[in-house]
Amino acid sequence: MNAPVKPSKLIKGASGDWEVVVGLEVHAQVTSNSKLFSGASTEFGGEPNSHVSLVDAAMPGMLPVINEACVRQAVRTGLGLKAQINLRSVFDRKNYFYPDSPQGYQISQYKQPVVGEGEVIVDLESGESITIGIERLHLEQDAGKSLHDQHSDMSAIDLNRCGVALMEIVSKPDIRSSEQARAYVTKLRSILRYLGTCDGDMEKGSLRADVNVSVRRPGEPLGTRCEIKNVNSIRFMGQAIDFEARRQIGILEDGGAIEQETRLFDPNKGETRSMRFKEEAHDYRYFPDPDLLPLEFTQDFVDGLKASLPELPDEKKARFMADFRLTPYDAGALVSEHESADFYEAVLAGLADRIRDGKVAANWVINELFGRLNKEGRDIAASPVSAAQLAAIVDLIGEGTISGKIAKDLFEIVWTEGGDPRALVETRGMKQVTDLGAIEQAVDAIIAANPDKAAQARAKPQLVGWFVGQVMKSSGGKANPQSVNDLLKSKLGI
Ligand code: MN
Repeated sequence: MNAPVKPSKLIKGASGDWEVVVGLEVHAQVTSNSKLFSGASTEFGGEPNSHVSLVDAAMPGMLPVINEACVRQAVRTGLGLKAQINLRSVFDRKNYFYPDSPQGYQISQYKQPVVGEGEVIVDLESGESITIGIERLHLEQDAGKSLHDQHSDMSAIDLNRCGVALMEIVSKPDIRSSEQARAYVTKLRSILRYLGTCDGDMEKGSLRADVNVSVRRPGEPLGTRCEIKNVNSIRFMGQAIDFEARRQIGILEDGGAIEQETRLFDPNKGETRSMRFKEEAHDYRYFPDPDLLPLEFTQDFVDGLKASLPELPDEKKARFMADFRLTPYDAGALVSEHESADFYEAVLAGLADRIRDGKVAANWVINELFGRLNKEGRDIAASPVSAAQLAAIVDLIGEGTISGKIAKDLFEIVWTEGGDPRALVETRGMKQVTDLGAIEQAVDAIIAANPDKAAQARAKPQLVGWFVGQVMKSSGGKANPQSVNDLLKSKLGI
């Protein structure tokens, strides 16, 4: 099923090469105003236990009622992952005791999830693209939170998160390095955010992953895996995988065996440690929840959701490449976050000639704008230069009113002072000089002042660049570079 792993991705052990195999179970909080089976609010950061209905608190006799909005979000996510949508799925009880889960079980889906197999295309830094298989996506409830720092001898419970809808998105064990794992989660998060089905905010716990790691000799069957629970940053995922692979290789090379267990990643120490030996599915005594009917859809329901999906990053990238001749790298940079793609689209919408200038606009968004935002640690939403202003700058270049060099000065003025770029070019005298008479005077003056260099340039035409530079300088960067070039060549006879 998988292409052989390239030697560079293998890990060198003392006794030869090893391959790391990773599968991810991502828990993504569904964007929805209310919980999966109750009308309580999902708002983050409320007073403890202020968003708890009697259902969430598991009071006797309370019955869950499925939230249709959450179901739609799960189906839309499945469609965005190009996955099989199951027209019939079943909610099961997964039985275990947690202090912050008052039901004593989690309502989840087991054998019949709402979404089956799909895939995610992942672009790596090397420029290579890989496909990571999706095994399934199911809906389930989140648990509450235990707070251990409120009292010296008691734990407190906050049930606000209890019953919030999660999508558990399970990948196939197709991932072969920490870099691939990071790129996969980054892409998955981007797709969820384009769809608006999860905000992807890892600091608030809206997206977290259980990371399954095993190692094997290349070509051998899968090794025993360990599961690292609840990793809540993409960087930590990479660190946890690298540490865990090394730990397992160390044990195996010493003649030991890996025990299937659940581990925790400690970000301060950069290591994983054992939490508990892993339960098997049968330990949870799964059975269909008798309070809930199976979830059944018509194909029309699914088709309707499919028809209303937004354009997703892969399609947007392909369109930018085709319409504006962008490189895969540039198109990928623009679509990686939907906010930056939206910004670029807004610039395009403001251009007088988007077919002619779309590529120039992309360069300006990526190099000047992203570069400057990064340098100042700002978000695109807080950009001092609006899409309309940037479009005006690109228009001014495209129509020959200003040179690319002057445009950078203009960008700087707009960034720091604001204002209408077109008006600024007028009031500050930044217009490109296309008056051939004025340029010719400057060209003549510089040739006359440098007879030796002129002779050299006649013999070696590439030296004309020095003259171009001098003329541009004497015009304060405002001379039209093409006119300067043409005039110099004719005057020097080259
Ligand atoms: Mn789960």
